[in-house]
Amino acid sequence: MKLILLGAPGAGKGTQAEKIVEKYNIPAISTGNILRAAVKDGTEMGVKAKSYMDAGQLVPDEIIIGIIQDRIKEDDCANGFILDGFPRTIPQAQALEDMGIEIDKVLDIEVSDEAITKRMSGRRVCAKCANSYHLEYKKPQVDGVCDACGGELIQRKDDAPETVQARLAEYHEMTEPLKDFYQNIGKLVIVQGQEEVADTTALVFAALED
Ligand code: ADP
Ligand code: ZN
Repeated sequence: MKLILLGAPGAGKGTQAEKIVEKYNIPAISTGNILRAAVKDGTEMGVKAKSYMDAGQLVPDEIIIGIIQDRIKEDDCANGFILDGFPRTIPQAQALEDMGIEIDKVLDIEVSDEAITKRMSGRRVCAKCANSYHLEYKKPQVDGVCDACGGELIQRKDDAPETVQARLAEYHEMTEPLKDFYQNIGKLVIVQGQEEVADTTALVFAALED
């Protein structure tokens, strides 16, 4: 199964991707995580991407398309994959078509800007392993400490309130048109994001089985 998860930043794509990984045993490919790893490692790509990411802007298409081209060639993608955070622009979606990748479904997780703004302000991530938490909805066992690895929980720079507004604006302008793109080729399925993660997951699974 080859899936795309669409949705605004903070709509919960990453969380739902993890659930799909467990159930369907296919890898999730998060361009955001790949970029953050590159930034942390200080690679040439990471250095280029960092300024865009910190400002809440999209990283240039050619960098992102290269990442995806390389990643989906790996062995673990043989039975499919979930794309989380790609494509985010029409040229990226077009590049995926040009690679000859047959996507089965595009799940769009819909959450209002207001709810997203509230969620993102409470999001915390592990500085070591990138696991994510929330001050209200997904608290770690010990304040400020990662359950998985004991790392320190921090706020991503791009989760700062001004940056969140920039990311939402970017989403509406650049990414939302993908809904029409995939609707037109009969691939779009809309899921309303719920307050409880498990409720959204139930809707996501129902959409995938449909
Ligand atoms: P979110 O929490 O917004 O879903 P991600 O972790 O997916 O964020 O991405 C973080 C940042 O990485 C984005 O704000 C953007 O700068 C960059 N990025 C990730 N994926 C893409 C993409 N497909 N195209 C352009 N930029 C991207
Ligand atoms: Zn951790």
